[in-house]
Amino acid sequence: MALDTAAAVTYNRTHAAVVGWSARRVEVADFLQHEFVPIGPQQSASDRDFAELVALWQDCGNRRAHRQVLAVDGKLGPTSWRAIQPDLARAAGNRALKTLDLQVATLNPPRFDYQAALRFALDLYGAIGIQLRIRTEICPALNAADTTRLAVIAGQSQWTGPGSEQEDLYERVDLPAAAEGVRIFFVAGIGRQDGTGLRGCVGHAPGKAACIIDSNLATVFTLSHELGHVLLTSDFSPTHHASADNIMFRATDGHSLSRPPGFDAAQIAKIRANALLR
Ligand SMILES: [Zn+2]
Repeated sequence: MALDTAAAVTYNRTHAAVVGWSARRVEVADFLQHEFVPIGPQQSASDRDFAELVALWQDCGNRRAHRQVLAVDGKLGPTSWRAIQPDLARAAGNRALKTLDLQVATLNPPRFDYQAALRFALDLYGAIGIQLRIRTEICPALNAADTTRLAVIAGQSQWTGPGSEQEDLYERVDLPAAAEGVRIFFVAGIGRQDGTGLRGCVGHAPGKAACIIDSNLATVFTLSHELGHVLLTSDFSPTHHASADNIMFRATDGHSLSRPPGFDAAQIAKIRANALLR
């Protein structure tokens, strides 16, 4: 049956957000182009190219399965989107694997599912070729004064230098001075000047990359989101992605593990270029 490219283009334009891949169109197009147009400079795929590439991939999937698994219609609908995700993850994994060390200090026990948060972070970053390695996990014993002082961390500014609460957090918590990678602090609260709470904030000071996460307010996605801020650095724009399917959407409440959020191609390129990765 001949491909109805126009119908596929219309479908993909109108359904991308509902199906859940609008934030990952560039990543999908890159994957399909590398898969099916291996020679010559890669140009950004037009909507017609995109639909035709999807149809090629659908046809290929049916051939591999020796049966009709997917309709060859160029439409990236729910079934095709589910089927293409392992391919996307494999393509990302085939890029050179990098490692990021994490040093975790728990000042206040997480009230969200920490194991689920960790599993999700390992999957999310693993899918873009980054292996997270937890090097230390400590529950520091602080004296009473420090416990009180560091219970709620001022989150309105970045690491503001000696004397700030964030700096104190860094100095008082007994992690090896030369510990590599990113430090993660779970605290009882993060305050803002306007009195409202924050789920997490990050520090970008050279040699002191860190995420501070509110153990009480965080969701299972907050760790991955804040780690995203650290790795994208403060000069990446937009800070928050417009799509709720992206892990860098401004709030993590709407995400679900059954339809996990991801990164887009620009974010992946920026993250993978971060010098904290080894
Ligand atoms: Zn954020």
